[in-house]
Amino acid sequence: LCAAQVDFVLSVADMRQLPGTDYPEIAFAGRSNVGKSSLINALLNRKKLARASNEPGRTRQLNYFLLNEQLYLVDLPGYGYARASKSEIQQWTKLTLNYLRGRPTLKRIFLLIDSRRGVKETDEEVMDLLDSSAVVYQIVLTKLDKLKKSEQEGLAREVFEKLKKRPAFHPIVCKTSSEDGTGIPELRAEIASLI
Ligand code: GDP
Repeated sequence: LCAAQVDFVLSVADMRQLPGTDYPEIAFAGRSNVGKSSLINALLNRKKLARASNEPGRTRQLNYFLLNEQLYLVDLPGYGYARASKSEIQQWTKLTLNYLRGRPTLKRIFLLIDSRRGVKETDEEVMDLLDSSAVVYQIVLTKLDKLKKSEQEGLAREVFEKLKKRPAFHPIVCKTSSEDGTGIPELRAEIASLI
């Protein structure tokens, strides 16, 4: 995955536009500003492939990237931003639910959690949705460089304890920083194991 050849495939706002299920697929989800585009760019060794979710119009799209003609990486729209209206939240939920139901090739969702903020209520609501769809999700802590070493391990354990009883929760919590590269090789290995 390190030297991945990346093709930006398409932005999907409507389920009828989804690409065929020719490749296994993984998806990245998280609150807006969690560091999702930074993480995807770090994983793929690119500067500006994934763009921040708070750009206008990008909140209602799934962005598909094809890696090495082996795997689709899907950037889900960020959720939980402060000014979101009720209809925007409904739109996000509808898009995500339709997506989850329509993708038999979806192997795993990487659910990003900002290390300084921890697991929020909206994150738990998204996990409820994923639990009900039985799609395995794996927590990725982002911006780990903002915590002291001693706090990092404690947070990972706390998150594990809080979520371990959830049905579709994956027990390995990834600890990453796009800033200093912490955990990026491990996350790449995790993704490669799903191909
Ligand atoms: P997105 O909205 O989830 O795509 O988030 P972005 O990737 O745009 O990041 C949101 C903000 O967090 C930006 O100001 C980034 O520079 C910052 N950020 C992202 N990743 C990291 C990280 O690993 N460490 C630190 N310190 N800041 C980060």
